[in-house]
Amino acid sequence: MEQEVLAYLDVDGNIIDTQTAEQRGISNEVIHFDNSDNSLEIIRHSTAHLMAQAIKELYNNSQFFVGPVVDEGFYYDFRVDEKISEDDLKRIEKKMKELIKKKHKIEKYEMTKAEALEKFADDDLKLAVLSRIPDESISIYKQGEFEDLCRGPHVPALRFLHNFKLTRVAGAYLGGDENSEMLTRIYGIAFADKESLKEHLKMIEEAKKRDHRKLGSELELFTFDEESGAGLPFWMPKGARLRAKIEDILFKAHRKREYEPVRGPEILKAQMWHTSGHYACYGENMYLTEIDEQEYGIKPMNCIGHIQIFKQSGKSYRDLPVKYFEYGVVHRHEKSGVLHGLLRVREFTQDDAHIFCTPEQIKAEVIEVVEFVDAVMKKFDFNYTMEVSTKPEKAIGEDAVWELATQGLKDALNENNIAFKIDEGGGAFYGPKIDVKITDALGRKWQCGTIQVDFNLPERFGLEYVAEDNTRKQPVMIHRAILGSFERFIAILTEHYAGEFPFFIAPTQIIFVPISTDHVAYAKELKNLLIDEGIDSEIYDKNDSLNKRIRLAEKQRVPYVAIIGDEEVKNRAIAIRDRRAKEQYNLTQDELMVKLIQQLKEGKI
Ligand SMILES: [Zn+2]
Ligand SMILES: [Zn+2]
Repeated sequence: MEQEVLAYLDVDGNIIDTQTAEQRGISNEVIHFDNSDNSLEIIRHSTAHLMAQAIKELYNNSQFFVGPVVDEGFYYDFRVDEKISEDDLKRIEKKMKELIKKKHKIEKYEMTKAEALEKFADDDLKLAVLSRIPDESISIYKQGEFEDLCRGPHVPALRFLHNFKLTRVAGAYLGGDENSEMLTRIYGIAFADKESLKEHLKMIEEAKKRDHRKLGSELELFTFDEESGAGLPFWMPKGARLRAKIEDILFKAHRKREYEPVRGPEILKAQMWHTSGHYACYGENMYLTEIDEQEYGIKPMNCIGHIQIFKQSGKSYRDLPVKYFEYGVVHRHEKSGVLHGLLRVREFTQDDAHIFCTPEQIKAEVIEVVEFVDAVMKKFDFNYTMEVSTKPEKAIGEDAVWELATQGLKDALNENNIAFKIDEGGGAFYGPKIDVKITDALGRKWQCGTIQVDFNLPERFGLEYVAEDNTRKQPVMIHRAILGSFERFIAILTEHYAGEFPFFIAPTQIIFVPISTDHVAYAKELKNLLIDEGIDSEIYDKNDSLNKRIRLAEKQRVPYVAIIGDEEVKNRAIAIRDRRAKEQYNLTQDELMVKLIQQLKEGKI
């Protein structure tokens, strides 16, 4: 690929486009025209402007709001009289290509806010943008006749924007406010080269096929019912089996690491949420109710339950660390517009744990959690990255404790040879944290687990332990979830494996297809033997023809299908179709049991 200069980085790591660099005389660290994160950010944002330019030419009356870069590429929100549908995207793309051929440079000039307010006086959307930015100098980018208010950064010229695709049209409330007008939003994606764009589009196609909402209903894992309420999943038998298997594997994994299972109530008096600070800071996302004329809150987190259990008996330094875990059901209000299959729901279950320890123990505990995360992610074939978020400007807790905790997190990752990024100042006000981002089979990144050090709740709830010198000290709490939630993790797993779950969690691990009714009894016998071993099977003996039943079984994406006829019953043997290995072979009943039990054990963490 050409190594052309696209922009620069200043000493603080900010992207400075060539237009601005010229003004400021910056020329040190170069961003090349390639597919690096910085380069793509500039390319995608500039492509959003190119799209706006094309829309303006096609729809004279169009007005533009904002066009940021997002995880899936870029978008631009705008107002237009006509209704724009997916069919119009081609036309807009064509216009964009025409514009590139005009070889416009992208020029930048500046004006005061007062001048900008005058310039855009009859464009209420641009005035809305201006009202959101501080009274400093305003920059305008110009390409050909098209001018747009923007703080940049932009590519130097339109010729850098050849490899793009507009992906979808949506509606978006002005400024995300549900009470405001609905604007049109077009999403797109762009890369430095054609090959990367092609690969990405292929990935999007594959992702559509794997959409967990589609597979979830095809494989009968879960469903939603608007009549019952949006964002509230129903787990169907196969989904519940899948989930129970993951729960079981993780339960044992926690016990091996000396966590104790606990369980707190689903609702707690509002006073508890006042004490925790959730009422003030998180109240609008909580569901509240009333019992005996007293206000209660349905829990959005499980922390308080574990805190109250910790407080049940006096603790000494010898008792620490105390590690509690719970598959905690929580409710959080999400706006209806953001609900998305199992990925964004209003009720979900966290694989939640709280570690109560001394500040000196933070590092060792985090090392253990990181090891735990690693084991879980490897088990499910995920790569992952970690990010440490440090002390923000507004924070509680002593500097020395922050220092100890933050260093503890970094050391824990370094000692495990885990590369991590640092989000300077990105921690919560109550403590530093590690976020785990996993990468699925399609290369998409998902935020899942988190390890969060907390100095705040122990203080608010007056937690203490008797230290070695007999004084009373305050423990630190570590909140941690590895999957995040079962709902979200299963959504990701479903897409990651395209529904072909590994044997040890497959909802149905083997399907028996008896040739005739004479063979059903043996299938039932096998099914019960397998249940005793924790292995789930189904028998396809309904009225359909044998071929149809085999076809239905194959479609279920199960690891094994076994056909049972006279020979099998007589010899107590099984004819296996191994769907994953794409092989067929015969096993004796004993061989089958040994094989399946062995494969189940591969799920150990
Ligand atoms: Zn811009
Ligand atoms: Zn917590």
